[in-house]
Amino acid sequence: MVKIKAEYIWLDGNKTPQLRSKTKILDKPVERLADVPVWGFDGSSTNQAEGHSSDCVLRPVRFYKDPVRGGDSILVLNEVELPNGKMHSSNNRAFLRELVEKYGDKGFKFGIEQEYTLFKGEVPLAWAELGGEPKPQGPYYCGVGADKIFGRKLVEKHIDACLETDLLFDGVNWEVMPGQSEYQIGPGDPLKVADDLIIARYLMARIGEDYGITVSLAAKPMKGDWNGAGAHTNFSTKEMMKSSKAFEEVLEKLKEHHKEHIAVYGDGIELRLTGKHETCPYTEFRCGVSDRGASIRIPWKVDLEGKGYLEDRRPCANIEPYVVLSKLIKTISE
Ligand code: ADP
Ligand code: MN
Ligand code: MN
Ligand code: MN
Repeated sequence: MVKIKAEYIWLDGNKTPQLRSKTKILDKPVERLADVPVWGFDGSSTNQAEGHSSDCVLRPVRFYKDPVRGGDSILVLNEVELPNGKMHSSNNRAFLRELVEKYGDKGFKFGIEQEYTLFKGEVPLAWAELGGEPKPQGPYYCGVGADKIFGRKLVEKHIDACLETDLLFDGVNWEVMPGQSEYQIGPGDPLKVADDLIIARYLMARIGEDYGITVSLAAKPMKGDWNGAGAHTNFSTKEMMKSSKAFEEVLEKLKEHHKEHIAVYGDGIELRLTGKHETCPYTEFRCGVSDRGASIRIPWKVDLEGKGYLEDRRPCANIEPYVVLSKLIKTISE
């Protein structure tokens, strides 16, 4: 029987968690999650343990076809556990799992717009390719042409990779800052969408290696008159899809808990949510129809029908999706 490569992926213990992964060789192709063995790593190298008791456990929770390696190779998403089987403090997925069990009957659906900025070494890709500062923002959003688009080959490869594996992959568009782009994951159940986002991020970073391009999720990668990068989080419940009353209630709760949300919506949020560059200042809460300067945007079609989904524009590109979805579910449900 031919052996296969399984890439075990997890989030590390940094304040803004980073992706980590290592390869395990398995004796045969995997058919179900139970075929994927539990594994481990050195937590003292990932901010997840002290050197004197460094073992952390990787508990497989979902696996995907690996579109980079191909064949029967797989990507394995993991929760991190302590050797005694208890939850590791960095495991925010476990919280989301609990909330989904508790409030699953509300029928939450999410869709995340992942923005990011391509870099060559320490310099944004557009700056590197032009050998200096690009012309001001304006022509780049959904643009076409070598003077407007930087890194298209990587983005196209990433689309193909995401389609080849089983991701809820919605679409892609080039962004306002040159060399900045976005893909959308969703709409789907909270755990599936958050898991798929982690895998999509992994694939982008991994394929970027082949082009010598790095993917920055920084909230405000370039100071000055350049857009920051967000992770607009779209959400709905069964009720919101049916009635406008549910809508009003949700908006009221979001307003009430604004500060708590800002606190977990990503590092550098105060640099990004300034009130300029299609944002609402982080110190304010505002919702509006089609308003890209709002904290919460009500899509025009949703306003017309008086029901549907809302867009939370506050989360930054570098969010931990498990934390943000947990926060939204808690605020709306409790
Ligand atoms: P924008 O106009 O803000 O750029 P996008 O088209 O980039 O919007 O993203 C819209 C997002 O909304 C997608 O991620 C999609 O999955 C999500 N979405 C669509 N319908 C729903 C729904 N009923 N509930 C939650 N999310 C939804
Ligand atoms: Mn979008
Ligand atoms: Mn966008
Ligand atoms: Mn958006």
